[in-house]
Amino acid sequence: MSSIKILYSQEEIQKRVRELGEEITKAYMGRMPHLVCILRGAVIFLSDLIRYINLPLTIDFMAVSSYGRGTKSSGVVKIIKDLDESIENRDVLIVEDIIDTGLTLEHLTKIFKARNPRDLKVCVLLDKESRRIVNIDVDFIGFKVPDEFIIGYGLDYNGLYRNLPFLGILDNLEVGGESFEKTT
Ligand code: 5GP
Repeated sequence: MSSIKILYSQEEIQKRVRELGEEITKAYMGRMPHLVCILRGAVIFLSDLIRYINLPLTIDFMAVSSYGRGTKSSGVVKIIKDLDESIENRDVLIVEDIIDTGLTLEHLTKIFKARNPRDLKVCVLLDKESRRIVNIDVDFIGFKVPDEFIIGYGLDYNGLYRNLPFLGILDNLEVGGESFEKTT
């Protein structure tokens, strides 16, 4: 049986997301950021975050899936839903749920840079720093987290738990030996 330990409460998350919104407001003062939410894990984070950014802004969505084994990422990113709008000459801020090895964001930033944005920055809610295997500049970070499997506040395990209002650690994962397509 799996069990869930609370890592950050709803109140702690809201406090930190508000602070991030204020940091982003300062960083983009006088500009109009274009926030790109990486579906599906970052959707709750984006919807809270934009309400704490006191600037005109636009949003778009990209859905990707990474092929991995169980709970681990392979970094091979497949675009399932591309952006609706061009990012050329825009101040793009990628909004992602979690950076783990960094492979997904490395791949994504390459795709984005090739489309000639004026500026490209990255905002992640969670940073599992100890697991990084590639060097990625992350401009805004919500929380540094331990090497545990995290669920809630948009993050899933096999599609479930996204609706939990807190961030939790899922213990006793039942991970089979089979490769499967993991949603992000
Ligand atoms: P990376 O390519 O940086 O290793 O992994 C990034 C992706 O792996 C994230 O977008 C997320 O989908 C998934 N991931 C990594 N760690 C966790 C975790 O602790 N919980 C959940 N739910 N997903 C994770």
